[in-house]
Amino acid sequence: MQFFKVTHRSAKSKARLGEIHTAHGVVQTPAFVPVATKATMKSLLPSLLKEIGTQLAFVNTYHLVTYPGPDIIQKAGGVHEYSKLNLPLMSDSAGFQVFSLAKKTAVPADANSRKANVRGEEEPLVLKIHENGVIFRSVVDGSTFEFTPEKSMQYQKQIGADLIMAFDECTYYPATEKYAEKAMVRTHDWLKRCITYFRDPANHIHSYPQYLYGIIQGGTYENLRKKSAEFISQQDVDGVAIGGVAVGESKEEMRKQVGWVSEYLPADKPVHLLGIGYFDDIIDSVIHGIDTFDCVEATRIARMGRIYTIQLSKIDVQQMPKNDDVELNIVKNEYRNDLSPLVEGCECYVCQNFTKSYVHHLFKQKELLGYTLATYHNLFIMEKFAAYLRELIAKDML
Ligand SMILES: [Zn+2]
Repeated sequence: MQFFKVTHRSAKSKARLGEIHTAHGVVQTPAFVPVATKATMKSLLPSLLKEIGTQLAFVNTYHLVTYPGPDIIQKAGGVHEYSKLNLPLMSDSAGFQVFSLAKKTAVPADANSRKANVRGEEEPLVLKIHENGVIFRSVVDGSTFEFTPEKSMQYQKQIGADLIMAFDECTYYPATEKYAEKAMVRTHDWLKRCITYFRDPANHIHSYPQYLYGIIQGGTYENLRKKSAEFISQQDVDGVAIGGVAVGESKEEMRKQVGWVSEYLPADKPVHLLGIGYFDDIIDSVIHGIDTFDCVEATRIARMGRIYTIQLSKIDVQQMPKNDDVELNIVKNEYRNDLSPLVEGCECYVCQNFTKSYVHHLFKQKELLGYTLATYHNLFIMEKFAAYLRELIAKDML
């Protein structure tokens, strides 16, 4: 079976419909990829993901390596078997943690010095990035360990997600052009090492195939982004991902970065955009030819009581509302007495059965079911939204 095939190209934009075939199922693209960081979609049973219609989920290599460790996951037969997340899974390379943990571990005296610690020419304080790899500090027990391109591949093979990412350095924002270029060149060198390790049959662990994505970097610089896109697309990879976006730059800058690379993206390989989850950003990336996008937003805000209210039948994709305008905060007291469905018109199990008042009550009382219901609904909306976009693409309306 062919790994990826494009089934329709929109006459209106670069948007396309496709199918990603994995041993754990087929993904209809464009698809939203919710994040199950530690091999669990927080508060949801795996069977509920099936019910919601989630097609593909994301797990984080860094977190699974620090705990419980890749050897245990391998021994269990891989992450699908270990967690019973029996759907196509994607893992990251731990490259993003070079960025996000460096930010956390920097000790800021004030907001400005915090920025200075992670920007430009400077290396993060606690972590070391060198040509061979990156030294991390474990958030579990403080011990240090090293990620190299080969180690990242080995860990991801042990974990066993269907789609895996090459090891990259996620460029800080704002980074100087000189630093962004340095990180990009390093990412390209690391990709070659990842491919060598990944393609060597002696390194295969699980019985089913895994597919490798290379990651485009280059920061906010047009020439670097294009150069990186061209380089990555020409390598022996199964898919291409765009990294280092939505790391603090403005929405306009983020969209520009995606626009710059769109003409360099491979026509016959799936393209993933790392870390994008707002409705308007998703539409913008889909029309640039992006097939999948992951984000923690939908599940993270659900656990804060923020519920998507978007009515797909009423949206105008040309003028997509901001996320803030299609959310309600169920914790607000005005919902205590509101016995209408959580979201009118939503067909999900939660909205068919529970009222705003009840979900409000659960959140107010910190009852665990509240997190489950809110997460269920928000992920259901994301699935409906992606399905709606696929419908529009099929009709050449997007
Ligand atoms: Zn609902």
